Amino acid sequence: MNPKPSLLGLDYQDLLHICEELDVSPVHAKKVMGKVFRYAEFDLENIPDFPKKLLQHMQENYDLSLPEVVTAQQADDDTQKLLIRMRDNKDVESVLIPAEDRITQCISSQVGCAIGCEFCLTATAGLTRNLTTAEMMQEVMIAQRTLGEFPRNIVMMGMGEPLHNYAHVAKFIRMLTHEQGMALSPRRVTISTAGLVPAIYRMLDDDLPCSLAVSLNATTNEVRNSIMPINQKYPLEDLLKAMKTYVAARSRKRVLIEYVLLAGINDTMDDAKRLVDIAKDMGSTVNILPFNPFIGSKYQRPSDEVVDMFRNFLNDAGVVAVVRISKGRDISAACGQLKTEVNQRAAQRKERRGQI
Ligand code: SF4
Repeated sequence: MNPKPSLLGLDYQDLLHICEELDVSPVHAKKVMGKVFRYAEFDLENIPDFPKKLLQHMQENYDLSLPEVVTAQQADDDTQKLLIRMRDNKDVESVLIPAEDRITQCISSQVGCAIGCEFCLTATAGLTRNLTTAEMMQEVMIAQRTLGEFPRNIVMMGMGEPLHNYAHVAKFIRMLTHEQGMALSPRRVTISTAGLVPAIYRMLDDDLPCSLAVSLNATTNEVRNSIMPINQKYPLEDLLKAMKTYVAARSRKRVLIEYVLLAGINDTMDDAKRLVDIAKDMGSTVNILPFNPFIGSKYQRPSDEVVDMFRNFLNDAGVVAVVRISKGRDISAACGQLKTEVNQRAAQRKERRGQI
């Protein structure tokens, strides 16, 4: 194991601090930001007029290697799923989703997840640990190496609940959007949460430069309790209040509602009516995600007819709703299907011991 911390975990303030400590001009912090985070070039020795003592300090104290990509699978629709092995041999998945004008990367923020949504494959192995800021940045750099360009859209919708790993994720978001680095527009960086209400308020207090999506998936506490245990801690009314506060505080900002459609669970016209009321109240658009079944899941995907009826009901009521056809289904890279082979084996062991 390499004991040096990764340079990719250093933000602009950290770099300024190092420059100050070494008594060199702060302009060199900008140079490192540009070289590493804007152009993804790691050869610091090629930076013009770079002080020797700063170069030596960086080389002696920080690591710029990237973790191993164990497998890279490509789906029929060109979606790529990368299995990345971190320094401690923990595996995470990162998904690259091509679109006409830009590539979206779906970032994992944790190894596994503690939230336990019943319809999610990642949930079955539980949480192993949080990813660090540097490890999430390494996912982005690996994408850059894979594609030859940076993804221009980042969604925190991979393995893990990003707001459960708030400090590391917040620093990562600020680094992605920092003007000296990748300078992504905050509109192009989205945190998706299962509904950690206090952390939504914290995002507001911190003025975190990103967009918010909420994985709502139900319109009553009864149904939400049954599919998302987090609802028992932060019930629907508290979550909706937090979303409304977020929208009100960030004028012209909206909260995207994600709704995994489960056959016979949350796909009735009564559900659709309640969802219309919620979406109109927030001014939200709705992403409908027909459930992607996995081996051992207890839910079914609704028929295409039901999916269309549900979407049409929302559209006819004046709510912008789109059915998101999950990309990469043939390589299990679609929403709720991320789970590494290692985690699958852990889940199978637990299952045998009757723990899940
Ligand atoms: S849907 Fe997201 S928050 Fe829920 S268990 Fe899966 S990874 Fe965790």
